This record gives sequence, structure tokens and C-alpha cells, in this order.
Amino acid sequence: MTRAYNFCAGPAALPDVVLQQAADELVDWHGRGCSIMEMSHRSADFTAVAETAEQDLRDLLNIPSNYKVLFLQGGASQQFAQIPMNLLRDKHSADYVNTGMWSDKAISEAKRYTQVNVVASDEANNFRTVPDVSQWKINPDSAYLHYTPNETIHGVEFDFVPDVGLPLVADFSSSILSEPIDISKFGLIYAGAQKNIGPAGIVVVIVREDLIGQVIPGTATMLDYSVAAKNGSMYNTPPTFAWYLAGLVFKWLKANGGLTAMAAVNRRKADALYAAIDGSDFYGNPVDKRYRSRMNVPFTLVDASLEKTFLAEAEAARLLNLAGHRSVGGMRASLYNAVSEEAVRALTDFMADFERRHG
Ligand SMILES: *Cc1c(COP(=O)(O)O)cnc(C)c1O
Repeated sequence: MTRAYNFCAGPAALPDVVLQQAADELVDWHGRGCSIMEMSHRSADFTAVAETAEQDLRDLLNIPSNYKVLFLQGGASQQFAQIPMNLLRDKHSADYVNTGMWSDKAISEAKRYTQVNVVASDEANNFRTVPDVSQWKINPDSAYLHYTPNETIHGVEFDFVPDVGLPLVADFSSSILSEPIDISKFGLIYAGAQKNIGPAGIVVVIVREDLIGQVIPGTATMLDYSVAAKNGSMYNTPPTFAWYLAGLVFKWLKANGGLTAMAAVNRRKADALYAAIDGSDFYGNPVDKRYRSRMNVPFTLVDASLEKTFLAEAEAARLLNLAGHRSVGGMRASLYNAVSEEAVRALTDFMADFERRHG
């Protein structure tokens, strides 16, 4: 086994045992003489794989029965358009909170379909905190409020679920399955799979059923949630391999204690890394401590001229993908479920050693 420690923001690390299982059954799935990738999506075998994945996700997140679980394509980015198409209904505006680049992209796309009311923005502060809810300028006539619980690039994470009297819509791409979520507080949540669910190619949408079925005129059939819901997310051919692999990850999570257990491990990993950053004058993180992300930890070297050396030495030490997003620079370590405490220890040990040699 020559697996390195992988801190990629996405597509991100997957559990070793899941990859090994997929490898073991890749060529001949369960004795059928062909791969799961080579089967009809309408076969009894694949239907069982798909339904089991959905049920396991429902169990993990304790999803109420009046919510649909959809396995779609087009990534989280397509949801930026699909959400207003489906959820505006008879309303003429939508509320958005802007806490980072992903919120900002969601806002830009929604503007193509409706009037967007940005209730609060931390942009002038370079996205380092969550603006105080008491200052949010909610429009009670809006169709919904959209926010990004975890900003993957800026490393800002909400530690609460807002309650503003509108249906809540949340982009959980980089923090779904990292801890329990009370789905009943939301109208819709969505997440691209390639961070904390499985491989790229699938986006999971969990939506309260009374909110769907009233798309705006001109909406493509493929973009209507109610069509996906009626067809078990198989109006057309779904990304079967990605769905299957996500299902293996759900089984892995269940076998490892579910989301309460994940939350405890994720807390310990983030605490260990932030302690290493805060315990040194050599490293820094600019985010308001209350809202520091557990999943994506951006950090800087106080001497920015050492960044290239840091990344090269880290890679040589088999600590992969620590470069920050191209828009913000610096470093970023993503600590999704498949990143072990051992990996975080290897990173903090490396950081201390690098500081000794270059500090
Ligand atoms: C990665 C990410 C996206 C974009 O996901 P795609 O699947 O590439 O479209 C959107 N929102 C958040 C919070 C993300 O982390």
C-alpha cells in the first residue's frame, strides 16, 4: 500500500477500504461476470444498489419521509441555477447570504432568474466571518433564503442554522456528512459528491416535497426536480459508477458509527490543526475563531516567500494537495471524513519540523 496523505479540497480523498472494495469487485461485480459500470441502470441489480444508497443516506442524515432525495448531475454549480428555477414559484425575489466565493457564485447565477436580495455580505472584510444575523436584511416576500454553511475556499463555517421565516436552502457541498444535520429545518440542501460523499459526477439534492413541481416557464425537463423525483433520479441514465461508489461510502460511514462519530473525529482533527497554527508565529489563519471551518483550513506562512518550498517539501513527505485555492493563495488543508487523524498528525509534525528548519 503506497497511499499518501491527501488534503485535496475536491475531488477529495476517499476511504482506503472503500477504494479497495471497489477494486476487488470492479471487473466482476458479485459474480455477475461484468462490472457494475457495464450494467443497465434499470436492471434489478443496479436498482438495488441505487435504492440501498438512498436508504443508507436517509438513515445517516435521519431524513424525514416528506423529503425527496435526488441523485443528479451538473455539480453544485448547476444547482445555482436549478434552485431558483424550481423554488421561486410565484415569488419575485430570493434572499442570499454572501460569506465567500461559493455564495457569490450562487448569487450571480440566481440573478439570471430573479431579483436577488443579498441580506448580508462579508466581502468587504475579505470573507473572514459570518455577519451577525441581527443585521441581516431579510425580505419576508422572498421565495427562500440561500446560504453556504461551509465556504470551502475561505474556510468560514456557520456554527448555527439560521431561522429567518423563509424556506432555507443550503449548499452543503463541503460539509455534508461531517456531522448530523437537522434536515427538517431546511427546504432544500444540496452537495456535490466529490468532497465528502464520493467521486465527482453526482450532486445530491434533498428537498421538501411540497416545494417542488412548480418550475418557472422554459425550465428544461432535466432540470425539473419533480421529474427527477417521479423517476427515481433515472429520467435518463444516471452516473451509475459514482452512485455505486457513494453507496459504498455511506456503508463505510454506518460501519464507523455514523455522523455523531464522524463529528467527534472531525472536531479533534480541526482542533489539532488550528492548535498547530495558533501555537506558532510562523503560521497564520485569518478567520474569526468562532467561524473557522472544520473541513477546510486555509493557512499562510508569515514569510510568504517560503510557500513554494513548503509545498514542495510537503509533497516529498507524501502530504499532497496543500496549495490554497488559486483565488486566495497560501495553503489549505481539507479534512473531510476520509482524512484520518493520523494524516493530520503527519501534517502537524511536518509543519513543526518545517518551522524548525526554516523559522
Ligand atoms: C466545490 C463546491 C462547489 C462547486 O461544486 P461543483 O460540483 O464543481 O459544481 C459549490 N459549492 C461549494 C460550497 C463547494 O465546495
